[in-house]
Amino acid sequence: MNDPVILVVEDDSAVRNMIAAALETQSYAYCLAETGGKAIEKAASQKPAIMLLDLGLPDMDGSEVITHVRGWSGMPIIVISARNEDSEKVRALDAGADDYLTKPFSVDELLARLRSTLRRLQYMKTADAEDERRFQNGGLLIDYDSGCVYLDDRELHLTPIEYKLLCLLAKNVGKVLAHTYITREIWGTAWDNDVASLRVFMATLRKKIETDTTNPRYIQTHVGVGYRMLRIE
Ligand code: CA
Repeated sequence: MNDPVILVVEDDSAVRNMIAAALETQSYAYCLAETGGKAIEKAASQKPAIMLLDLGLPDMDGSEVITHVRGWSGMPIIVISARNEDSEKVRALDAGADDYLTKPFSVDELLARLRSTLRRLQYMKTADAEDERRFQNGGLLIDYDSGCVYLDDRELHLTPIEYKLLCLLAKNVGKVLAHTYITREIWGTAWDNDVASLRVFMATLRKKIETDTTNPRYIQTHVGVGYRMLRIE
């Protein structure tokens, strides 16, 4: 099989060159696009495995690129945001992005994010072939048939909402989920007070699945943005 190709979409040549140089050090195959239009074209023609997408593009907003691409591709999209604005990230995640990097970011950060995304792709391939009635991550096991959850072989007693929340995070393991996305999936709405309720349910869920809630292993908080279940190696 061919090496996975990474599509880099960035109009700022200095940042683009920095990313290209970083990818070269790891011998990753990549292709470049400077505009949203070109990004959509290359996403279709080059069949990249991952897209690294700057949100501020000259011809369109990065979120529009995501909406286009999501019409026909589930490839992981890591958004690069110059704006430290949470609303931008949330919009991109809502449109279907998987993860984000905030400028300025280091080469190490970029490569770590790519490695975890590549691992997730690998996992998704093997998981497809496996039995989808169970979800295993570290010591956490969800048995979808019985609706039982175990942590280190001990059964947990979750409320229906906590269970729904855990299943949603598990289904999207490795992906950052925006508050609005989660509340829509759980309650069918996205009001501000749902975000407050979400925080409460998340706190009780964490008490049950995390041994140390101040240093969570399974569920990561993205302040002002959302939550992600981490894949435990
Ligand atoms: Ca830009």
